[in-house]
Amino acid sequence: MPIKRKSGRKADEIRPISAKVGIIPNADGSAEYISGKTKAIAAVYGPKKMHPQHAQNPAKGTLRCTYNMLSFSVSDRIRPGPNRRATEISKITEWALAPIVMLDDYPSMVVDVHIHMTQADAGTRCAGINAAAMALAHAGIPMKNMVSSIAAGKLDKTVVLDLDKYEDSEFEEGEGSTDIPITFTDDGKITHIQVDGKINKKQLMEAVEMARKTSKDIYEVQKKALKEVGEK
Ligand code: ADP
Repeated sequence: MPIKRKSGRKADEIRPISAKVGIIPNADGSAEYISGKTKAIAAVYGPKKMHPQHAQNPAKGTLRCTYNMLSFSVSDRIRPGPNRRATEISKITEWALAPIVMLDDYPSMVVDVHIHMTQADAGTRCAGINAAAMALAHAGIPMKNMVSSIAAGKLDKTVVLDLDKYEDSEFEEGEGSTDIPITFTDDGKITHIQVDGKINKKQLMEAVEMARKTSKDIYEVQKKALKEVGEK
C-alpha cells in the first residue's frame, strides 16, 4: 500500500510553486521562488573585483553563494548569522550552479549570490538554488543552461516528491523518511544530488526519474518568470 501523505498530496505531487524575477531593484539580478510555505529570495551582485585579493582566481571568475535562514523564517526564532548548516548549503549551492555559469571571461572577479529564506518549511536548499539560478540569468551572467531543483525522497517504502517539514523531520512510520534534493539542468543532467537517509538502488532510480520529470515543470515556471521581466 502506498503511503497516505498527511498533506493529502499524491506521491509525485509537489507543493504549489511560484516564481518572480526582479524583486530587488538595487541588485544586478534578483528572484523569488516559493514552494508551499518555503520562500527563498536571491540577489546577485557582480561580476565585480574579488576581495579578499588572495581569493582571486586569475584563470576565471568565482561564483560565491551565501545561504541564510532569516531569524523569523521558522516558528522558533533562530540565531542569526552563519552556522555549519548554512555554510554547507552555501557550498552545495555553489556546486549545483557552477556547471552552468560561464565565468571564463571574468578572471579575478566574483559573482556574489545572496540567498535568504524568509520562510522555511523544508526544501530550502532547492528553493534557494531555483531562486539563485533565475537571479543569475536576470543579472545577465552567461549561462549554459538553467537549473531546477527539487527533492525526491521516500516515506516508509513509498517514493515521493518534495518532502515538507513534517515529512522531513517528524515522519517515523516504518522505514522513516529519506530526503534526496536533486538539481537538474534544463536538458535533464544532474548537477547536484544528496541522499539523506536510506534507499535502495531501484527506488533511488525511481526517485531520480520522478524528480527529473518534475524539474521540467519547475523550469517552465522559472522561464515564464524570466520572460515576464525581460533581461536587464
Ligand atoms: P532543507 O531546508 O534544504 O530541506 P534541512 O533538511 O537541513 O534542509 O532542513 C529542513 C527544514 O528544517 C528547514 O527547511 C527548516 O524548516 C527546518 N530547520 C532547519 N534548521 C533549523 C533550525 N536551526 N531551527 C529551526 N528549524 C530548522
